[in-house]
Amino acid sequence: MTNGRRAIGLDIGGTKVAGAIVAEDGTVHAELRRNTPGTSDADTMDKLLVEMVDELRSGEGGEGVCAIGVGAAGSVEWPVGRIRWAPNNSYRDWDVRGHLERVTGLPTVVDNDGNVAGLAEARLGKIRYDDMILLTVGTGVGAGIVLGGQIYRGPHGQGAEVGHMNVNPDGPQCGCGNFGCLESMASGTALTRMGRSAAAGDPEGMIATLARESEGPVTGQHVTMAAMAGDTTAQSLFTRLGRALGIGIASVNAIFEVEAVIIGGGLVDAGELLLEPARRAAREFAYAPAARPIPPVLPATYKGDAGKIGAGLLALEET
Ligand SMILES: [Zn+2]
Repeated sequence: MTNGRRAIGLDIGGTKVAGAIVAEDGTVHAELRRNTPGTSDADTMDKLLVEMVDELRSGEGGEGVCAIGVGAAGSVEWPVGRIRWAPNNSYRDWDVRGHLERVTGLPTVVDNDGNVAGLAEARLGKIRYDDMILLTVGTGVGAGIVLGGQIYRGPHGQGAEVGHMNVNPDGPQCGCGNFGCLESMASGTALTRMGRSAAAGDPEGMIATLARESEGPVTGQHVTMAAMAGDTTAQSLFTRLGRALGIGIASVNAIFEVEAVIIGGGLVDAGELLLEPARRAAREFAYAPAARPIPPVLPATYKGDAGKIGAGLLALEET
């Protein structure tokens, strides 16, 4: 049982901001969700976060709240709590921690969203780990590396960006501007790109047909639906994507030697279509497989909730 300490966890993404009251054992007492405003500049976002904190604190379960944790997409300076830059939001050099502490009076921690999600999986997942990597395969590829039970952040808090590890210098351009990052090969964005190319080459195929029926352009979701319905073209795209993911897994495991690699994010809904080729490539490209254990590649315990739970948990551990 918990000693009753609770924190507010906030997860800032490119499309939504999720909030919750989180107890030390990971129990969620109240939840809230807002769309990320179109102009996600610092002033607009400050106002939104304060509103969410006020609503959660004054609602059911809010009486024991003693801290705030924020997980945010982008490059976050730790422990300063300033978000320097984010690929999908317009905030720059945003002093999240300073503002929230001044306005709410609550101690606040701010970290990268992949880091806090990794913490939630390591501490509270179905299996607990001291040394693990979480890869969240969604619009991009987020990552959290937990070593010796602690989040690995690098000297300024901006390390562990496994999604921007290069796996193919001749590969497609990434949202960060480089070419052939893991994210450019193994994300929902990559699946959308591959799906559009497949649909253009086969306008009567299932991917193109599903997109036509939804009266929109081909997205990764159409590819996922087609793959799960047995379409071999869509399944082959998952095989390519999973293989790229597995190459990335082999490389990070060569460096860190972890107990497990956990896969979260929206694309893990495709299950074995994604995980099986990832495991295969992780074995194929493993360093010294006769001598070193190959870590299991497992689906995450918390899917979309890992960010806000991990943010709340980090606040309880660090304040
Ligand atoms: Zn990149």
